[in-house]
Amino acid sequence: MKKFLQALTPDAYAESIYAITKESLQKRGIKGVIVDLDNTLVAWRLGVPNDRLADWIKELKDAGISLCINSNNTGARVDLFAKEYDIPAVPRAAKPRRSGFYQAMELMGTDTKNTVVIGDQIFTDVLGGNRLGLLTILVVPISSKEFIGTRMVRMVEKSVLKALTKNGLLKDWE
Ligand SMILES: [Mg+2]
Repeated sequence: MKKFLQALTPDAYAESIYAITKESLQKRGIKGVIVDLDNTLVAWRLGVPNDRLADWIKELKDAGISLCINSNNTGARVDLFAKEYDIPAVPRAAKPRRSGFYQAMELMGTDTKNTVVIGDQIFTDVLGGNRLGLLTILVVPISSKEFIGTRMVRMVEKSVLKALTKNGLLKDWE
């Protein structure tokens, strides 16, 4: 059980991307951020580019930190955000498969030592990042509206989160 939980354990947990400051990334030597789109950067399906998100992305970029969107969603929606914020993206990433994460690091010119994964799902973002030995940050999903398949996975995720909490494995990102 411990080993199984380990693969699903994020290095840290954050209320939202806005709790992840450039300072917190810099002190860990992070140069690249692989970030999920739906319910991490914006609400699933209905989320649109907005000023707060623009400011967060600009702050990281200005600090010399690259970003890449890594999404299991289709090209059109992912491209909209990639274009709006002028960052690379890997659509249809098929997370937790490793290929999309490698592709993202290649696009940013970073490696497994200086890249972090940020996402709202344990079985795609966290598991995928952990498979490559990347630093992973789980964020609280922005909206409870989700793809039906995701909603089913959330039920399992809930028990995993419970187990992580019980074992003292969920640490706040600082
Ligand atoms: Mg997501």
